Amino acid sequence: MDTTLSKLDRKLVAHARAFAERELRPVAAHYDETEQFPWEVHWKAAEAGLASYDLPEEYGGGGVTSLLTSCHIAEELAWGDGPIAGAFGGGSFFAGPIVALGTGEQKARWLPPLCGPRPPVAALAITEPHCGSDAAALKTHARRVEGGYVLDGQKTWISNAPIADLYLVYATVAPGTRSKGITSFVVEKGDPGFTPGRELPKLGARCYPAGELFFKDCFVADDRRIGDEGQGFYGVMRWFDRSRVTLAANSLGMGRAALEVAIEYAKEREAFGKQIHEYQAVSFRLVDAKLGLDQARLLTHHAARLADAGEPFTVEASMAKLAASEAAWYTTWAAVQTLGSNGYSREYPVERWLRNVKLEEIYEGTSDIQRLVIARSMFGS
Ligand SMILES: Cc1cc2nc3c(=O)[nH]c(=O)nc-3n(C[C@H](O)[C@H](O)[C@H](O)COP(=O)(O)OP(=O)(O)OC[C@H]3O[C@@H](n4cnc5c(N)ncnc54)[C@H](O)[C@@H]3O)c2cc1C
Repeated sequence: MDTTLSKLDRKLVAHARAFAERELRPVAAHYDETEQFPWEVHWKAAEAGLASYDLPEEYGGGGVTSLLTSCHIAEELAWGDGPIAGAFGGGSFFAGPIVALGTGEQKARWLPPLCGPRPPVAALAITEPHCGSDAAALKTHARRVEGGYVLDGQKTWISNAPIADLYLVYATVAPGTRSKGITSFVVEKGDPGFTPGRELPKLGARCYPAGELFFKDCFVADDRRIGDEGQGFYGVMRWFDRSRVTLAANSLGMGRAALEVAIEYAKEREAFGKQIHEYQAVSFRLVDAKLGLDQARLLTHHAARLADAGEPFTVEASMAKLAASEAAWYTTWAAVQTLGSNGYSREYPVERWLRNVKLEEIYEGTSDIQRLVIARSMFGS
């Protein structure tokens, strides 16, 4: 346990750990197999205060403002199951830019339900069919009309798209100006002109759906605009700095889970008359996995501490996400390898964790994009 955390925060981390053990680990395989949304767990997490621990206290959230504390909580929950924790963490993902840029009225409207016992499912929608990494190239148009805007366009690969109640949608008020025109709007389920599209089949993270959204002459009133016109891109990039650090912590939790299973297996399994950990090919592979995870944890906590101190941390956030997602990918690969055929079996968890953890290197900026952010800081480009 991190002794730099307050006593209260350490209790919260222990609470997350106990919840992960009790409520996430035992049901994770079921939700992966059935591809059902984990409603029961979503509600239990809400009741346990773990779906909104980082939302402001005045709106009913847990009031955790320290990114370091959030990292510890995220690591424990992802140790239980990364995708399920991601599913009930969707509310905070949607709410982050509203907390930063929304008016008092907007916060009072959308935050309290997210902190309640039956929180709405929420989504944040930037990616479009022609652009993911190059988010500033988005084309969804927000045309100014009397009293609001009319949205036209399409989104894809949006987590929770088919089932969400609330969507934070990024569109441009000035096509062709890239980031300058990008503005965010809250769209609610059932708004005329808005339709969720199909769910996209995927490799892992199968307990929550990801899919398309369509906007055709979809009117949103002025009070649905979050921040000023043109503030959306800046706002979401600042938010990604924070969320990339917690995503790094997710990767660490998923990787740590795989390493634990691999170590136990290597102590029990025998080949050629020895426990397999006695072969350096096996133990060194797991040493490298531990080294990668522990190094990435130092980077992750360093980025979080900078954020907590109010220092710039964009580059450190990218380093943390890059290092942690790659270390977790290596670790789950090494775990599958260590378990041999059983690693490939759906009766053991590591094949599922390998499928799940791949996503960490893709969303919220692929590893190439994290390298691009770091390179720009090195070369001033
Ligand atoms: C399960 C899942 C859930 C998701 N959830 C959400 C969500 O909730 N909201 C949302 O808005 N989006 C979401 N996404 C989308 C995700 O963030 C994007 O898919 C991701 O940013 C990559 O974009 P892309 O798929 O368009 O890849 P592309 O941008 O087309 O990239 C393709 C390849 O080219 C590389 N590449 C691109 N540009 C460069 C460059 N300049 N230098 C070097 N290499 C480059 C990339 O690294 C990648 O390897 C989700 C995706 C998945 C799979």
